[in-house]
Amino acid sequence: MDFELSDEHRLISEAAREFADREILPRVKENDRNERFDRELASKLGEVGYLGAPVAEEYGGRGLDYLGYSLIVEQVGRADSAARTVVSVQTSLVCGSIERWGSEEQKREWLPRLCSGEALGCFGLTEPDAGSDPSSLRTRATKTDDGWSISGQKMWISLANYAEVALIFAQTDPELKHRGLACFLVPTSSDGFSTQEIHGKLGLRASDTGEISLDDVEVPDEAMLGEVGDGFKVAMSSLDSGRLSVAAGCVGICDGCVQASVEYAKERRQFGVPLARFQLVQEMIAEMIVKRDAARMLVWRAADLKDRGLPNTAETSVAKLYATESAVECANAAIQVHGGSGYVDDYPVERYLRDARVTTLYEGTSQIQKLIIGRDATGINAMTPMEAEETAGARS
Ligand SMILES: Cc1cc2nc3c(=O)[nH]c(=O)nc-3n(C[C@H](O)[C@H](O)[C@H](O)COP(=O)(O)OP(=O)(O)OC[C@H]3O[C@@H](n4cnc5c(N)ncnc54)[C@H](O)[C@@H]3O)c2cc1C
Repeated sequence: MDFELSDEHRLISEAAREFADREILPRVKENDRNERFDRELASKLGEVGYLGAPVAEEYGGRGLDYLGYSLIVEQVGRADSAARTVVSVQTSLVCGSIERWGSEEQKREWLPRLCSGEALGCFGLTEPDAGSDPSSLRTRATKTDDGWSISGQKMWISLANYAEVALIFAQTDPELKHRGLACFLVPTSSDGFSTQEIHGKLGLRASDTGEISLDDVEVPDEAMLGEVGDGFKVAMSSLDSGRLSVAAGCVGICDGCVQASVEYAKERRQFGVPLARFQLVQEMIAEMIVKRDAARMLVWRAADLKDRGLPNTAETSVAKLYATESAVECANAAIQVHGGSGYVDDYPVERYLRDARVTTLYEGTSQIQKLIIGRDATGINAMTPMEAEETAGARS
């Protein structure tokens, strides 16, 4: 066992840190204040290869392993969770699904443009009445002579208003429950496809979030990702990668909290000495460091399992649960270290708290992660009160 990064991984991390400091940090405050989705920054992320880092080079990616990908996401997440959301959604949920489940034509059509940032994609799983239980989704795909007609509503979809292609999960046969789900690659310019921005979010204000309406959207048979019945597997395999990405971004938040708090505690003086001189302030910083380091190790473990092709669903949930809850706790403590100054956006810590808060909700809430971990440990599915056969449809 070696806890040191290889030279290659260290370089990946350092390059990502420099990029984040140079290109992302200067924009963060204004974008957050103005709830502005920074499309130009999304293009820059693509230009440096951060939108499809683990995608194979022949499809426009960088062919990196998951550890390398996690290191990039940590640095982007330290700088800005809205930019990190672009990386996570585009890479793990959209490109990852297409690369894993797509036909050769679908990969060639979409992956190069998505990896370069020329086009953005979104992942349309959640609906107004289907969140933790996606098997109950109501968007309906009906067979037509030359393809499918899709109608329904999607809710809380990141990048919905800027995406050129949407992965839409739809039910082909309600009697089959999760076994009837299919996933379609739907161009957002299709007739009957419309979006609406969602505003008023606690955090992630510079991230685009929207509702999607599908009104008899016609797509050809070739738009399906995988086959009828694969939709649930497409969603769950994407979330396995997405959760790692969210967790890595949260390590970045924890690290940002440590850095900001150490700097502030050494600079700010009270009672004639720097705050860092007080044991109670050091205690807050020490606890942040423990959480950051533990979260990072859990992320690296999950990434390593993925890189070796070993089962990792429970370990990924452990990393996601711990890193996201730690990010919330670290950000809260970092505000405390900053006193009143931590409550306004002159320092990054109040944004860290607002942005961290959603990470315990999306890509499976903390409760869902605990149920996955508990199921793995006991072999008993406690996700729903129904029979195990039926419950295979929960967001696991
Ligand atoms: C900013 C933002 C961006 C998002 N981006 C996307 C996106 O790009 N694509 C997408 O498809 N979705 C996206 N989502 C949706 C997100 O994944 C869902 O909000 C999440 O899965 C939770 O679903 P819900 O909101 O319907 O909550 P619910 O499922 O209604 O859960 C509410 C509460 O009940 C608890 N609960 C539910 N079921 C159980 C159970 N079996 N046992 C114990 N407790 C339970 C939950 O843990 C939670 O505390 C986004 C959400 C937000 C806020």
